[in-house]
Amino acid sequence: MITKIRRVQKLLDEAATHAQRFQKASQMGCPSGCSLCCLKKDIFASPLEFFPLAYHLYQNNKADTFYDELEQRTGNTICALFSTMNISGWGCSQYEFRGLICRLFGYSTTSDKNSQKRLVTCKTLKGGSEFQKLSSTTLLKAPSFPDYYMKLASIDWQLANESLPINQAIKRAIEIVSSYFDYSGSKRAG
Ligand code: SF4
Ligand code: SF4
Repeated sequence: MITKIRRVQKLLDEAATHAQRFQKASQMGCPSGCSLCCLKKDIFASPLEFFPLAYHLYQNNKADTFYDELEQRTGNTICALFSTMNISGWGCSQYEFRGLICRLFGYSTTSDKNSQKRLVTCKTLKGGSEFQKLSSTTLLKAPSFPDYYMKLASIDWQLANESLPINQAIKRAIEIVSSYFDYSGSKRAG
């Protein structure tokens, strides 16, 4: 389990670094403080990409409390990690442990039916002059959305391919990680 969590965290870091490199090359960037994408009510993610978060919460004895909060959010589908109080993390209260979708959205590509790369991004970035100036060569430097999800699937095919509303994905990650460590008798760090 620890190896799996570390592999996921490594992939998450790799995706973030790749997206940053592309931002630099394309000169695209989110307006300061914008976190509109976190406020979408229909974000889907896999449990696996939230394993590092679940482990972090478990180690800090916060997994049960956060799980209970998630249970009570039945009607609210906005990501439970979003907080208007968190300015430094662009509204994400667990920025260091955000999912793969959060690291790729805005600055990654998929291929259209003509095999042309297109950016998986938002209206704000599409409205910017840098987006209009994007060349196909620069676009090739962007992380490929499907490639990163394939890499995630190579860590655990089933858990990477479960597509759930983001709060459900986090909840399931907490369930799996907490049960594993509870039953394996591993000690929490600190
Ligand atoms: S990706 Fe778009 S919606 Fe999300 S923070 Fe950047 S500009 Fe805002
Ligand atoms: S995990 Fe963080 S970055 Fe991702 S949607 Fe939720 S608040 Fe936004």
